[in-house]
Amino acid sequence: MAEEKQTNYDVIVVGAGPAGMTAALYASRANLSVLMLDRGIYGGDFCPPGDHRGRWERRGGLHYPGFKTVQGPELAQDMYLGATQFGAQYAYGTVEKVELAGDLKQLTTDMGDVFTAKVLVIATGTQQRHMGVPGEEEYGGRGVSYCAVCDGAFFKNKHVVVVGGGDSAVEEGMYLTQLAKKVTVVVRRDQLRAQPLIQEQAKQNDKMEFIFNTQVTEVLGVDNEVVGVKTHDSKTGKDAEIQADGVFIYVGSVPMTAPFKDLGILNEQGYVKTNDLMATSLPGVFAIGDVRETPLRQIATAVGDGAIAGQQIYQYLM
Ligand code: NAP
Repeated sequence: MAEEKQTNYDVIVVGAGPAGMTAALYASRANLSVLMLDRGIYGGDFCPPGDHRGRWERRGGLHYPGFKTVQGPELAQDMYLGATQFGAQYAYGTVEKVELAGDLKQLTTDMGDVFTAKVLVIATGTQQRHMGVPGEEEYGGRGVSYCAVCDGAFFKNKHVVVVGGGDSAVEEGMYLTQLAKKVTVVVRRDQLRAQPLIQEQAKQNDKMEFIFNTQVTEVLGVDNEVVGVKTHDSKTGKDAEIQADGVFIYVGSVPMTAPFKDLGILNEQGYVKTNDLMATSLPGVFAIGDVRETPLRQIATAVGDGAIAGQQIYQYLM
């Protein structure tokens, strides 16, 4: 006889990144039944979809206390084993609906699965922001990309534009110089936001060019393929065009909180508001990691959030 699928838990953690896996570890170690529910593979941002190994190996490993370098997938695997050793379970599914009926939280996934728990932990993280300019969505997958490792190989010996001035734009731009013949980074301000060390490395790279004070206003294409971008120089007020075969967009991130938007716990930017104990204003609803309103988004802070939440959940349920 087929084993009946468990649908009712003490705790459901939505998102199995470092924050979610740590909360699951602490809660299950306290003998609570825990489900980690994730739309993809565990690991969150350090195992991005379609990019399970390359990105972090290429970067020489994540920086995380206690390790000189450590590869994202290996750390993710170890965290997963840590989280599941006390019985926490893991299931695939994108949460589409959240209903709070008194003390019970009910979650419905895109696959029609319904799970209930006394405690909901939101650990869904962030996703890459889109620029919102004409041509961006139209040429998605036809020259517009948000993942250099996934799509860089299509641009061997070609010219690509990278949009953004943060760590991601500069690092991914440097990665692309290994494939493309030229990488033009378009930065909207007069300076980069990336860490000084990363900036220094990029400036020494002959294949990289920076254009400052410039906003991409449109992605241009012909016959279903990107041929360049339109730009606006905020200093001179001049519009121009850059011919390019691909556009890689790294303009920051936005919280993944769509299923929680009606709960009244989000700030204006869509991040979840919590107190220092990771509790939202709703009883039994916690939020941790990058999705939370927080001044720093790192693996170290995510696991700290997860540990606090795991312990607080126990207190709440007792
Ligand atoms: P970020 O630090 O938020 O940088 C976003 C960049 O995009 C900024 O240069 C921003 O310009 C620009 N931007 C925002 N909206 C734009 C728009 N509509 N059009 C054009 N440009 C726009 O994002 P990130 O680089 O993805 O990094 C996210 C976080 O991950 C950061 O905390 C970062 O330190 C971290 N990270 C760390 C590493 C590492 O440690 N190796 C690697 C990658 C990411 P303004 O500066 O004008 O706002």
